[in-house]
Amino acid sequence: MSGIPFQPQDKLGRFMLPQAPEGAGYYVYGNVGGVPGTGHLAQYAHANFLSVIFRIEHEWQAIEERKFGIGNISLAGGRKYEHLGHQKGIEMDFRPIRKDRLTGQAARVSRFDAIYDRDATIKLVRLFLQRPLVVKIFFNDDQVQHICGSRVQYSKDHDDHLHVEIRERP
Ligand SMILES: [Zn+2]
Repeated sequence: MSGIPFQPQDKLGRFMLPQAPEGAGYYVYGNVGGVPGTGHLAQYAHANFLSVIFRIEHEWQAIEERKFGIGNISLAGGRKYEHLGHQKGIEMDFRPIRKDRLTGQAARVSRFDAIYDRDATIKLVRLFLQRPLVVKIFFNDDQVQHICGSRVQYSKDHDDHLHVEIRERP
């Protein structure tokens, strides 16, 4: 794992996502306001997933100056929490793209908001779908589903974030 030598690792061998390094194409968000087990503590990812994230981050930066927001992945050790799934480090939530450059906790945006940028969100979804490990994405904008194809699917409450799942191994 030469690219991420200093990242905290849990007992399942998952790595904590680097917390929004300066100049990265993403920022991190989570319920950091004193809620146990959320925020950076819920950003442990399978090494294969980290590779996917880094690749997409790189490709995104080549075409976009805005950052995309990464939320829950998994808790250290695969501990169960109120978030369904999200135990194996192969599922991740991320935010739709906004028309402005706001980042951080307050940058929440839903597909119903005027500030929501569908075209840019589609660009980002396509970068994910180009990765062979990506199994599916939940997001409820039916136009995004229509344009991006059957791997983008409806799932209850996925209006203000997208949920992507990868295969654990190629
Ligand atoms: Zn999710």
